[in-house]
Amino acid sequence: MDGHTREIHLSRLPAHARTLFGLELTAEQQRAFRIMAGELVAWNERVNLTAITEPEAIEIRHFLDSLSVLRAVKLRPGCRVIDVGTGAGFPGLPLRIVQPQIALTLVEATGKKIEYLQHVLERLAIRDVSLVYGRAEEIGQQPEHREQYDVALARAVARLPVLVEYLLPLLRIGGRMVALKGESAAQEASAAQAALRLLGGELQRLIPVELPEVAETHYLVVIDKIAASPAKYPRRPGVPARKPL
Ligand code: SAH
Repeated sequence: MDGHTREIHLSRLPAHARTLFGLELTAEQQRAFRIMAGELVAWNERVNLTAITEPEAIEIRHFLDSLSVLRAVKLRPGCRVIDVGTGAGFPGLPLRIVQPQIALTLVEATGKKIEYLQHVLERLAIRDVSLVYGRAEEIGQQPEHREQYDVALARAVARLPVLVEYLLPLLRIGGRMVALKGESAAQEASAAQAALRLLGGELQRLIPVELPEVAETHYLVVIDKIAASPAKYPRRPGVPARKPL
C-alpha cells in the first residue's frame, strides 16, 4: 500500500461531534479522521477490517460511536487507557485523536490488524500509542499490564460475562471499564452479575446513546473496579468464552 492513500471527506463529523459531545474538532483532528477513514477503506480491500465502508457510516458508526465513550468517563491528560480487541482501532484511536494527552494501549489478537494499526499510526504521525499483539487472557496475567490501567474499553469483542474477565484484571482499583453495547446491554449486564462479584467489579450504570440515523439505541455499560481481581483470572486463552463465569 503506498503512503499516499486518499483522504476521505467527512462532511458532517465536526457538526455531529459538537452537538453530541461538545467537541470542537481542530483542523488537524479533522484531517486525522479523514486519513483514518481513507486507510480503513483502502486496506479493507485486502484485510478484513470492517463491513462499514460508506463515508457517512464510518463517521457515525465508527468515529462518533467511539467518541460516545466520553459520556461515560473523563479522559484526563496522562490517563492510562487500554482498548481490548481494538480491530481497526475502535474505540481507542478516535479517542486518542481528540484527547492526545492520554496514554493509549491497543490490544489485538490478529496479526493483520496489528499491521494495519502500525501503518495507520505512522500515517497519523502518532508515536506514543502502544500496540500489543496478543490475547486479553494472556495480557491480563502480565505484570506490565495487570492492574495498570485507569480505563479499559471494548466494543464488539465478547458478551459482558466474558468481557469483564478480559478487562477487569487490567484495571487498578478505582479504575473504570466501559463496554460499548447494543440493545442487549441490560440483559448482558444482568447475566454478568456473578462475574462482576468474583472479579471486583461494580455496575454503575447504562448510558443510552442515540446516534444520527442509527435506529437502534447503543449503550455504554459503565463498571467500576472496587476490589482486586483474584490471581487466577483471567483464565487461559479461550476458557472465559467457553465457560463464562
Ligand atoms: N473493537 C473493534 C473490533 C471488533 S471485532 C470494533 O468495534 O470495530 C473483535 C476484535 O477483537 C477482533 O479484531 C478480534 O481479533 C479481537 N479479539 C477477540 N477476542 C480477543 C481476545 N481475547 N484478545 C484480544 N483480541 C481479541
